[in-house]
Amino acid sequence: MQSYDEALAQILGSVTLPLTTELVPLEQARGRAVASDIWATCDLPPFDNSMVDGYAVRTASVGSASEELGLSLPITMEIPAGSWPTRTLRAGEAARIFTGAPIPEGCDAVVMVEDTQESEENDGDEAGRVTLRHPGSGGYIRRRGSDIAVGALAIPAGTTLRAGEIGLLAALGLSEIPCPRRPRVGILSTGDELISLAHTPLSPGQIRDSNGPALAAAIEEAGGLVVQRAHANDMPEAVAEAFAKLSGCDVILSSGGVSVGDHDHVKAVLEAQGTLSFWRIAIKPGKPLAFGTLGDALFFGLPGNPVSSLVTFELFVRPLLQKLAGHTRCLRSQITVTLAAPLPHAPGRREFVRASLDDNLRATPTGAQGSHRTSSMVGADVLIIAHEAHGDYPAGATLPALLLR
Ligand code: AMP
Ligand code: MG
Repeated sequence: MQSYDEALAQILGSVTLPLTTELVPLEQARGRAVASDIWATCDLPPFDNSMVDGYAVRTASVGSASEELGLSLPITMEIPAGSWPTRTLRAGEAARIFTGAPIPEGCDAVVMVEDTQESEENDGDEAGRVTLRHPGSGGYIRRRGSDIAVGALAIPAGTTLRAGEIGLLAALGLSEIPCPRRPRVGILSTGDELISLAHTPLSPGQIRDSNGPALAAAIEEAGGLVVQRAHANDMPEAVAEAFAKLSGCDVILSSGGVSVGDHDHVKAVLEAQGTLSFWRIAIKPGKPLAFGTLGDALFFGLPGNPVSSLVTFELFVRPLLQKLAGHTRCLRSQITVTLAAPLPHAPGRREFVRASLDDNLRATPTGAQGSHRTSSMVGADVLIIAHEAHGDYPAGATLPALLLR
């Protein structure tokens, strides 16, 4: 039986290269990874500009201005954001300037509007005068290239694009971003008992296929594309036929039929049609989990129990999809939580306990943890990691946990 760490390392090690690159419109790039380093093609900001609303001045001519000794200057220009100064600022002049507006030539400081007083009377000087109560500061000038300079590394390859990265790419004027394409995933639900259409009444003994939709949602969330959905009855021929039909996938997931029961055929058919690397991992939930290859695709035979299939997806399939899609960080963040209630745990297997989290990182398990209890996934913010070498944990114990959101 594989340990959790061995299984994860082997699964991630099976990815040699990310998928081929495609150009993605910036508006659709959120959540994607960048395929290559992005270098700044221009300076940001593109020109020196004012950090505040105020007056552009020349330090040499306003050094004496103070709270007590106000210095009156004529206002010779008005420079709103989006305009460009038409002339040089001379000594003894002030230019009304606004946040983000370009600094005129000759100006080396800006006085905040809060440190000034504009005069009503204008002595025949049309634009009026301003009294400075402070000499201003060069620190109020945002220098060209001070955010990022042309030629600098803006975003390293493998970075996940979130709002902040999208903003930087937009500021640089990039409209299409090179990203590894999304992994194509096929899903096969196995089981004679399954009905997939919501409006069909259930016959005795039947249940609805909930793993199919749950896995499809998890794949989308993980950045994958669901390209095929199929169902197979619990007959070796039916599983073999369904496997043969799943083509054009980078990853194939099956659910159910992977254990050792008389009606479990996934493992044997995989061995016949593809390769099986391992099929048992010392974790709870989800001990039976087959990993191998089927044609050109990587194959996961996930357990049928709804909780087990989603938890094993979270632990093993999601990191793989993220790695295929080019993300440097393909694992969920691990945090430390405090148990709000005692946690019973039998040593032997590493257990991943669904729990909700409060604002103080106190974790409360989402009720009984049976692997058929679909309801225990509702409101799960974390998977608390109970170690295989440990027994029960008391309330107040601190444990590692994988953050699911
Ligand atoms: P199996 O691994 O096939 O023995 O299935 C284990 C349990 O999970 C059984 O109770 C199945 O009915 C249930 N199960 C298997 N596949 C699904 C599915 N797609 N949706 C909901 N439950 C399932
Ligand atoms: Mg089954």
